[in-house]
Amino acid sequence: MSRKPIIAGNWKMNLLQSDAKALFEGIKNYVQDFSAQDLPTVVIAPVFTSLAAVAPEKCDCGCGCNRISVAGQNCHWEKSGAYTGEVSVEMLADAGCEYVIIGHSERRQYFGETDEMINKKAKAILAGGLIPIICCGETLEQREAGVTDSHIASQIKAALEGLSEEQVSGSVIAYEPIWAIGTGKTCDADEANRVIAMIRGVVAEVSSQSAADAVRILYGGSVNPGSISEQMSKSDIDGALVGGASLKADSFNEIIANTMKVAV
Ligand code: 13P
Repeated sequence: MSRKPIIAGNWKMNLLQSDAKALFEGIKNYVQDFSAQDLPTVVIAPVFTSLAAVAPEKCDCGCGCNRISVAGQNCHWEKSGAYTGEVSVEMLADAGCEYVIIGHSERRQYFGETDEMINKKAKAILAGGLIPIICCGETLEQREAGVTDSHIASQIKAALEGLSEEQVSGSVIAYEPIWAIGTGKTCDADEANRVIAMIRGVVAEVSSQSAADAVRILYGGSVNPGSISEQMSKSDIDGALVGGASLKADSFNEIIANTMKVAV
């Protein structure tokens, strides 16, 4: 089963509009030399205030702008209303987003995002015609206690509850071990592949084998131009959710380039 790779840059709470625009241009200038067929799906997730500055114009001009998709870093599950500080799926779509990252460990840890909220968000994103990038991952303590697989399986089961087979197939999952995020300690590629294959097994169990074969599952955690080739060579890793290395066009473009060298 061949799944199109995804290289997604999570810019987190970084870059002013002018910096975001410059970084977007740096990526756009690079990807325009390749056909959309050869490129992985390239996604960038700026802060909300920079979405308008970078959202691709659907101009079909061949300039490469359509080769980059934009993601929100979070959303609310309601369409509108008295939810100060929140943003809806429809608003993200209106700002040019095609994807939304949900359940990032930073949101779970610092903003109290629960499995139940993540499930509501996934449903709202899919109902709104966008694609959720559902994050999961274990802490170092959980890994050392030997509960990595059971913890991640329960995160995934909760996130996917009530989704149709078609919705699961079209979703993206990102396995991001928390101890590997921003630490420079990349998870061993074989171990990341093992966990991702385990996640695929959970998807087969709660949805179907065909959804498990179709769903794209990314690795995230200190991904860099030097680590991506080995990660992409593994059977179940379909791409990367990149933090720090996505904040510079050179390193992000090199990750895209190295992905193309491995991908068929
Ligand atoms: P780093 O690549 O900086 O470790 O961040 C990973 C991440 O959290 C992406 O969502």
